[in-house]
Amino acid sequence: MGSGVFAQGRSIVARLEHGGDLLDEIVALAERHGIEAGALQGLGALQRARLAYYDQTGKTYGEFALEQPLEITALAGNLSRRDGEHAAHVHLTLAASDGRAFGGHAAPGCVVFACELVVTELLGQPLERVHDEVTGLPLWRGL
Ligand code: ZN
Repeated sequence: MGSGVFAQGRSIVARLEHGGDLLDEIVALAERHGIEAGALQGLGALQRARLAYYDQTGKTYGEFALEQPLEITALAGNLSRRDGEHAAHVHLTLAASDGRAFGGHAAPGCVVFACELVVTELLGQPLERVHDEVTGLPLWRGL
């Protein structure tokens, strides 16, 4: 286990662009406000989605598409840095018209219908993702 202590900075409330890619919109928000690290929570709806599931044995992401309108019943995530760029890590729980839920790691291809997002800025040491040999994932360095 590793951990670090951060202070809470600004709270930024945003309405994401209709038709925009969810991850691109979130990264653009981080760039616009200069948020180096933060926590994300949101809700809304997607026109369609692309989610990923991490195969812990094969150490690869498998992706699947949901070609239907979906409610964002939960959006949880964080902002940090990776390869010198702003990076958003987002997980979604999405509900279909009959109430069934799908979930996973948000991949490029989640198209916003409407999304209300709250970003809580975290102030402290640099929060940078680097490759982790054990998991194969880009995890936070120095924690
Ligand atoms: Zn993930």
